[in-house]
Parts: sequence; structure tokens; C-alpha cells
Amino acid sequence: MTEKRKRLETTVIHEGYDAKEMLGSLTPPLFQTSTYTFDTAEQGERRFAGEEEGYVYSRLGNPTVNILEERMAALEGGERGLAFASGMAAVSAVLIALTKSGDHILCSSGLYGCTFGLLQMMEEKYQITHDFSQMESKEAIRELIRPETACIYVETPVNPTMKLIDLELVAEVAREYDIPVVVDNTFSSPYLQRPLEAGCDVVLHSATKYIGGHGDVVAGVVVGKKDFLDGVAMTTQKDIGGIMSPMDAWLLIRGLKTLPIRLDRHCHNAAKLFEKLSKHPKIAHVYYPGDEDHPDYPIMQRQMKHGGGLIAFEINGSKQDAQRLLNHLSFIKIAVSLGDAETLIQHPATMTHAVVPPDARKEMGVTDQLIRLSAGLEAWEDIWEDLEQALDRL
Ligand SMILES: *Cc1c(COP(=O)(O)O)cnc(C)c1O
Repeated sequence: MTEKRKRLETTVIHEGYDAKEMLGSLTPPLFQTSTYTFDTAEQGERRFAGEEEGYVYSRLGNPTVNILEERMAALEGGERGLAFASGMAAVSAVLIALTKSGDHILCSSGLYGCTFGLLQMMEEKYQITHDFSQMESKEAIRELIRPETACIYVETPVNPTMKLIDLELVAEVAREYDIPVVVDNTFSSPYLQRPLEAGCDVVLHSATKYIGGHGDVVAGVVVGKKDFLDGVAMTTQKDIGGIMSPMDAWLLIRGLKTLPIRLDRHCHNAAKLFEKLSKHPKIAHVYYPGDEDHPDYPIMQRQMKHGGGLIAFEINGSKQDAQRLLNHLSFIKIAVSLGDAETLIQHPATMTHAVVPPDARKEMGVTDQLIRLSAGLEAWEDIWEDLEQALDRL
């Protein structure tokens, strides 16, 4: 009997788990085990030879982790999911799997800081070069593709200025050259944006953010074609070893169940804060993809369900004023990361983007007056009142 495909709101709760197979346990059990016993020596031989299905050792697979992987694969519309110890373990396993010495990677501008650091290390140690592009047109992308280009790597929305990259456009160009497109979908989650449906090949997450949603796990997940991820599982994941712990998978399975309702609230709160911030005399500019005047608004409408939960804004004032604003807040927390129940605020120039050289930072729009906010799940009125009283004190 083939089962009808469920809607996303049902998939986040049920996919990849059958209570009947687990003594009726409603909640997926936590298989906190490092290894698995074989009934006989011959069975061990067959498992190692790949002739018999079954678990061998938790770096090669774990039932709790597998539930999360199946669920994430269904949510992104991919064939297989693979879970990692962190978002960076996922990024590095994918990029190392796709490249060899002398290759080239074409990236969207304004990547996550540690991904940028990884690319620099790959260049220094393995002569794997990279270029950045705003990817605003097909010509702009084609211009930077070389015979050695092994993949295109994209983040959208771009942090922290919330510029968007048109994923369908990038995927169309990549197909001309038969190059895979990898998308870091951390800022949107599969509830807001599904890059595989736009024609991209690999999608990855820092599950630390919206997937977990409760600020208690650091983790990563990749979804893509089975052949590709079977290869990653047996090479860069198995031999480098950045696997997810069963406990983290268990927490993520729990967090994921509320992804759609959480995201609805995050997005609603961000939209309300955008309205209020845009009208405030001490705010010079607000960056938010749900802004109808945002140049990328048409891409947002095509590619995302809502504008997301992140906002960046520039205040009229100095770096010290930006820091003072943060210090005046009462319950909004000063912290990097995003996607948690708590509203988090940070100063990119001195925190997430401090490693970027000042010139490059300015080019990215990360000024000393820029502040990034991850809208939490609190009442938006309370978040606004906290921001407003801090702005009033400047
Ligand atoms: C946080 C983040 C990462 C890194 O993930 P970790 O779980 O912290 O290793 C990668 N990409 C983006 C867009 C992120 O926000």
C-alpha cells in the first residue's frame, strides 16, 4: 500500500517513525548507544560486507538520528538526509566531498563567517579557489564559472542585509554547466523555502537555529540525492567523524514538531517590528525581505512563504550608540545565533562579522550602526516596547 504524501505540518510530526515498531512509544526512543551487538560472527561479517541491513556502530548510523534524517529529507523534498554535529560539520563535509585540489567554488556574497573561514583554509591548504558573486543575473554567474568550478554555494537571505538570491535562476545556469548547487537554508527552514524544489541539488542547515528552535542544541543536517549523500556518509562523514549525537537528534525531533507554528509567530513578530522600526525617527534603515519596497521583494514572493524572522536595522548614531541600545534592553537578549524562542539581538560589526576586514564589511553593508535582531516568540508588543524604551534613551 502506498501512502499518500502528507502536508508539511503533518510531516514534521510523523515522518520516519512508526510507534508500532517501538513497543507503542508515542515519542521516538533515544538510542543512546555507541555500538550494536551481532547475533553471530557470520552476521557481523555480513553487516560489514554490506550484505545485510542493520546497525554496526553509531558513527555509521543510529536509529534516533535516522528518524531525524528521514524527517528532514521529507521536509526538504529530497531523497536522503544526513545529520551532523554542527552546521559547520555539515558545510565542511559537503564542500570537501564535492571538491579536489585545484578546483574552484562560486559563492554568493556575504557568506556565514565560518564558511568564509573554511573557504580560506581550503584555498591555502588545497589550492581550492573561490569567487563571490551577487548572482543578480545569469550573465553575472556565467562570467565567473570556470572549467574547474566544482559547485555553486549559495546563502539566501544574505546575512545581515537580507538580500535575496534567486535560486531558480542560479539552478538554471548551473544546469547549463552540469555543476551542483548547494544552498545553506538555515535562515528560512524548509517551512519558508525549499531550494531542491527550485532545482538546486543539496540543501543544508545549521539545525542549531530554526530546526531545533529552543537554543539547546548545536547541530547540522544535509538533504539531497541518495547517491551523493551515501557517498558523503561513507567518506567525509564516516572518516572525518562530525556525526550528530543521538541526544541532539532526539531534541531536534522534539523541536521540529512545532516548526510551522513557531515560524508563523517568528514571521508575524518580525513583520510587526519592521512596521514599527521603519517609522521610528532614530532608525535610518530597516532590512527585511518582507518589505514591499525591498528590491528583492518579487523574489521573496516567488521563493519564500513569508519574509522570515530576521530583521536588521541601522540607527542614526555611532557605534557607541548601537552598543548603548543593546545595553539598555531589558528582556531582549544580547546574543548571536537566531531562531530561538527568545528574541536575540547582536551587533554584526563587532560580533558575527568582526573577522571580516573593515573594507569588505562596508561593501557588505555591515556598518557600525547596524544591528541584527532575531524575532522570538514573545508577544510582539513586549518586544517592541523593550526596543522603544531603549531607543528613547539614546
Ligand atoms: C549558524 C550558521 C552556520 C553554522 O552552524 P553551526 O551549527 O553554528 O555550526 C552556518 N550557516 C548559517 C547561515 C548559520 O547561521
